[in-house]
Amino acid sequence: MTGVNRDITIANIGNRKRAHVKELEREILLSFWKVHILHHAGEQPLHGQWMILELRRHGYEISPGTLYPLLHRMERLGWLKGKSDPHGGKRARKDYRLTGEGRKVLSVVRENIEELYDEVIERAFRNNPKSKFQIPNARKKTKRTH
Ligand SMILES: [Zn+2]
Repeated sequence: MTGVNRDITIANIGNRKRAHVKELEREILLSFWKVHILHHAGEQPLHGQWMILELRRHGYEISPGTLYPLLHRMERLGWLKGKSDPHGGKRARKDYRLTGEGRKVLSVVRENIEELYDEVIERAFRNNPKSKFQIPNARKKTKRTH
């Protein structure tokens, strides 16, 4: 037993740790998911189901009940603009794209991520090479095909 935090994995979680993950989700991961959404909406319009699969690919299991309110909230904030097929009825798929305001937010967020990454990953490793935050692993983990 090496401590609770070390044992948390997001994708495959036992019930025993679920409470901790709920806190982690509420306090921190919700913001990460919003960053993912901003980033992807900036590349191409996205819809909820696609985003659920994309976040799953990153190891996050998010229900529609969590994701859709996030999208709606980000639309209310003016960061996303949703557009649904006018002939698709009430349950028509809605495609979200990044607005100009959303693009500004994303650019500020990127600067913050860079700052955070430099301190929490790069510098933490330099100062403590035996740290478990080893750069090769971190690099591998963030390498994407898109
Ligand atoms: Zn992604």
